Amino acid sequence: MISATPPILPSGSVRILPMSSQINYVFAGDIGGTNMRAALADRSGTLIGRGTCQTEPELGLPQAEENLRALFEEVASGVPRDEVGGVVISSAGPIDPDSGIYVHPPNLPGWHDMTMKPGLATSLNLQVTIGHDATLGALAESRYGVGKGAQHLVYVTLSTGVGGGVIANGQMVTGAHGHAGEIGHLLVRPGGQSCNVGCDGCLEGISSGGGIARAATIAMSAGRASSMSDMAGGDIEAVSAQIVFEAAANGDALGREIVESVIDAVATGFADILNTLDPEYLVVGGAVTGGLQPYWDDLKALVEDKALPHFKDSVPLYVSPLGDDVSLIGAATHAFDLADSRSG
Ligand SMILES: [Zn+2]
Repeated sequence: MISATPPILPSGSVRILPMSSQINYVFAGDIGGTNMRAALADRSGTLIGRGTCQTEPELGLPQAEENLRALFEEVASGVPRDEVGGVVISSAGPIDPDSGIYVHPPNLPGWHDMTMKPGLATSLNLQVTIGHDATLGALAESRYGVGKGAQHLVYVTLSTGVGGGVIANGQMVTGAHGHAGEIGHLLVRPGGQSCNVGCDGCLEGISSGGGIARAATIAMSAGRASSMSDMAGGDIEAVSAQIVFEAAANGDALGREIVESVIDAVATGFADILNTLDPEYLVVGGAVTGGLQPYWDDLKALVEDKALPHFKDSVPLYVSPLGDDVSLIGAATHAFDLADSRSG
């Protein structure tokens, strides 16, 4: 009869727990053009302490770095620092993810060629990693969101801009320079309305919050009548994407036209994503997604129309359940992964 040999510890020895068992928390940060957020997260993905402040990029990167450091100290008060395993910050970019050096970031003017990574690492005495916000969003969705446990997932944020992140074989796809997943610049309508970068007819140019508002302003400037002018207090430059969606819901012809154009552009982009990456989940978040909710069945049907036949009746399109916290939760998830891999 064969029996398993029980593990034997030498008499008097002490079982050494791996380092990772002491890492109970990580810091997660998020730097946007308007606000910065900091959170302390535990292993369940819960953000147990959080703080926010204005980014004020015009005051310079060193000032923002100091404000973010103070936020981290604040959210971790009372927690033993040796239980905090590291820092991952999701940031608006473009940014080199290795050095954390910004490359002409449009929403962080004056931060070009600068980084807060080494300064924060020194002042917090922790490893600091910078991540791409939507890629971290995709990681969060694959661990804690609607696609929990998914090995192949794409996350798209339709917001002020349009961003995307890809999980393939359970791993974040970063690309050679950390810029993979720029789904916002898929050319869905060549020659169409351009984005801030200047590509004509990309998904962001047409279906970002800014793009939607611009379409309305351009049409009204060219003489199209619309109730949106009154809704914006007579200032057509002040029309927002929210006003366009409200006008469409109230039957305004121009509003409906723009929303239909957005749905068509989004469906084209989503069909391209499905055909190229074959994800189990295509998860969508961001404020514009809220505006598209009443048209969700139409959008899904159009994606099905435009995608390859094997997506017939099985378009895996979902709305993000993680909301505004998605990048912070992703940053925390990545921070635990890195801390655990370091402590081996
Ligand atoms: Zn573009």
